[in-house]
Amino acid sequence: MNLESRSPGDTVSTSAAARVLRGVDELRAALAPARREGRAIGLVPTMGFLHEGHVSLLRAARAENDVVVMSLFVNPTQFGPNEDLDRYPRDEGRDLRLASEAGVDLVFAPDVPELYPDGAATAVEVTGNLTSVLDGDPQRRGSGHFRGVTTIVAKLFNIVGPDVAYFGQKDAQQAAVIKRMVRDLDFPLEVRVMPTVREDDGLAMSSRNVYLEPADRVRAVALSRAVATCEQQATARGSLDAGLAAARIELAAAAIDPEYLEARDAETLEPVEGLTGRPILVAVAAKVGGARLIDNVVINPHMGRAR
Ligand code: AMP
Repeated sequence: MNLESRSPGDTVSTSAAARVLRGVDELRAALAPARREGRAIGLVPTMGFLHEGHVSLLRAARAENDVVVMSLFVNPTQFGPNEDLDRYPRDEGRDLRLASEAGVDLVFAPDVPELYPDGAATAVEVTGNLTSVLDGDPQRRGSGHFRGVTTIVAKLFNIVGPDVAYFGQKDAQQAAVIKRMVRDLDFPLEVRVMPTVREDDGLAMSSRNVYLEPADRVRAVALSRAVATCEQQATARGSLDAGLAAARIELAAAAIDPEYLEARDAETLEPVEGLTGRPILVAVAAKVGGARLIDNVVINPHMGRAR
């Protein structure tokens, strides 16, 4: 449904095209009637170059809310100096088409200065373990990456005022960090984390998969195979170590030397020694050719796998 079709006095617009807004004030004004009338607003933050993983979040938001907002913003503050900000893939025309097809009402696609005006000096940071391990390790992306993420997501929450915000399990650490920020700062919204969407061979969908040369695309499937094998072996043999060893073999067979392959408590990201009876995140990151890829599974004690 299009927002215009619900505006009082507007009886003709039935277009399914999402409306694109570049300014914060413009977006707030567009949402004001829905907010006044108590309609449920769903937000899906993205950096664009949409794939089926993004679309699954958009569909969930469409099914569960009256108004769906997608943000489309390649957030510079979450990229390190040696990361891929400049070459991050972009295709706004295609993104708008896919968003419209998925039933998005409003696409918020600001320029950088709209969200980071000169003199912007404020950041939101989740401190401690959640942002200093795995991708947050200073040898990897570092906690600054998550500070960039929580700053932009907090801004989007303040701008949009969603009832529900949607994130992907593919970025499990990001989801855990955002949940903690929402709890700690009392954002009045629900965070929904949707399952990882995969290619037919298991590779987790990612905008960065376009960086993979054909031979590396073949090797890249080892990441999903590794975490899936870990989950199977750990569950079947009742041993997390056995699972992790099997995962390492899968990675080595594809000549992949991971930045990390670790098992941690899925909520706190504290290290775990074995199967604890709580959900355990098994996460992997590796450079494969020109792409830095991540993947994970959650080993649930009684419910089988959740990816
Ligand atoms: P990005 O555009 O990469 O910042 O991703 C936007 C949102 O889509 C984040 O919440 C991601 O976790 C989510 N996402 C990315 N890839 C996938 C995937 N393969 N399956 C499910 N969600 C995903």
